[in-house]
Amino acid sequence: MANVVVVGAQWGDEGKGKIVDWLSERADVIARFQGGHNAGHTLVVDGEVYKLSLLPSGIVRGGKLSVIGNGVVLDPWHLKKEIEGLRGQGVEITPETLMIAENTPLILPIHGELDRAREAQNSVAKIGTTGRGIGPAYEDKVGRRAVRVADLADPATLESRVDRALVHHDALRRGLGLEPVDRAALLDALREIAPTVLEYAAPVWKVLDEKRRAGRRILFEGAQGSLLDIDFGTYPFVTSSNVIAGQAATGTGMGPGAIDFVLGIVKAYTTRVGEGPFPAELHDADGQRLGERGHEFGTVTGRKRRCGWFDAVLVRQTCATSGVNGIAFTKLDVLDGFETLKICVAYELDGQRIDYLPTAADAQARCVPIYEEMPGWSQSTEGARSWGDLPAEAIKYVRRVEELIRCPVALLSTSPEREDTILVTDPFED
Ligand code: GDP
Repeated sequence: MANVVVVGAQWGDEGKGKIVDWLSERADVIARFQGGHNAGHTLVVDGEVYKLSLLPSGIVRGGKLSVIGNGVVLDPWHLKKEIEGLRGQGVEITPETLMIAENTPLILPIHGELDRAREAQNSVAKIGTTGRGIGPAYEDKVGRRAVRVADLADPATLESRVDRALVHHDALRRGLGLEPVDRAALLDALREIAPTVLEYAAPVWKVLDEKRRAGRRILFEGAQGSLLDIDFGTYPFVTSSNVIAGQAATGTGMGPGAIDFVLGIVKAYTTRVGEGPFPAELHDADGQRLGERGHEFGTVTGRKRRCGWFDAVLVRQTCATSGVNGIAFTKLDVLDGFETLKICVAYELDGQRIDYLPTAADAQARCVPIYEEMPGWSQSTEGARSWGDLPAEAIKYVRRVEELIRCPVALLSTSPEREDTILVTDPFED
C-alpha cells in the first residue's frame, strides 16, 4: 500500500484535476494540505459536472474520506456554499465523509477586504492574487492571531481570538483608509457559521495515522504549482503557502515517511497566470496557438494565461524540490500540428550558461532561454491510450523531456477524458 502526493510541477493549471480524479477513485482518503478555495477545478464523473475549489476531489465519490488538513486556510462561508451546491447535485457529505482539521486557520471577511485593498494600491506591484483573503489569512496564522476551527466551539475563546486579530487589523486598515472592523457583526457571523464548520471538525492527524496503520491508501491533493511555492517559487509573485510535496506532511500532521510516491503534474508546454518572471514566455503566433489549442483561461478567475514552450530547467528544479518520483505529462495533444517544437534546456545569464532558475528576481528577469529544437508531428495524439497510438516524434519528445528533467513519465494524458491516459507506472503500486 502506498500514499501518493500529487503536486503541480509548474505554475499551476497543469491538469491536476483529471489526474487527481483518476487517482482518487483508487484511494481511500483524499486530503488537501495547503491553499484555500482558490484551487478551482472541474470534475466530470458519470456525465455530471462538479465544480470544486476547496473540498478534496474525493468528495464526489461515495465511500471515500475527504480531509481538509491544517495547512489549508478555510473560508467557512465558502465551505457552506460548496457543500450546499454539491448536496444539490446529490453528493452525500457527512462527518464520516468529510473531516476538517481542528487546527485549520479561518479566512475571515476582513482578509478578503485587505487582499483587495492592497491589490488596488498603485504603489505596490501587484502580486496577482485572487482576492479571496488567502494571503492575509496565512499572515495571521504565522502572526499567531488567527481564528482557528477549534476556537469556534467556545464563545469566550472566540471573542478573545477575534480581539487579538482586530488589534492588528484595525491598525492596518487605518493605514489603508478602510473603516475599522465591525466587531459585533464579525462575531455574530462567526457564531452563526460555527455549527456548520464544527460538524466536520476532527483531529485529522490522528485519523490519518489510524488510516495509515490500517493500510488505507491516502492521496494528498496539492493545489497551485511548485513555482508558486512561498519559499521555492518566483518570490514575491507566489502563493502564500508551501506547495511542494513536503507540505503534504506538515499540512496534515503526518511524518515525511508516510509519503511513498510524489507525482508531479507537468504540462507539455508552460503557462503562467498573472504577474512574475517567465523566461520562456512567447509573445508570438506560437504562444497564441498554445493558448488557443490548450484553452488556457483560468477556471476561477477567467484570466488568460501566458504561454511558452516547455521549460525543462524549471521542471528539473521543481522535480528536485518536491522529490518527484514520476510525472504525469499532460496536454501532449495540444502540441499536435506544430512543425517544430522547442524545449528550453538552459538559460543564458549575463553571458553565462546556467542550468537552474536563479533566486534573485533581477537575475530571473535577465535569463534568456536557450532552446533545443525537435521535429513536431502532424498526426493527432488526442485520445491516445497506448504508446503504439503515438507518432514516433511524440515519443521522442516525451523521452527527451524525461532525460532533461531527470524524472520518468508515470502517466501520459492525451485529452481531458480520464480514459485517454497512458499508464506507465501506477503510483499506488510502485
Ligand atoms: P488544474 O488546475 O491543474 O486541474 O488544471 P486546469 O483544470 O486549469 O486545467 C486543466 C484543463 O485541461 C481542464 O480543462 C482539463 O479538462 C484539460 N486537460 C487535462 N488534461 C488534458 C489533456 O491531456 N489534453 C487536453 N487537451 N486537455 C486536458
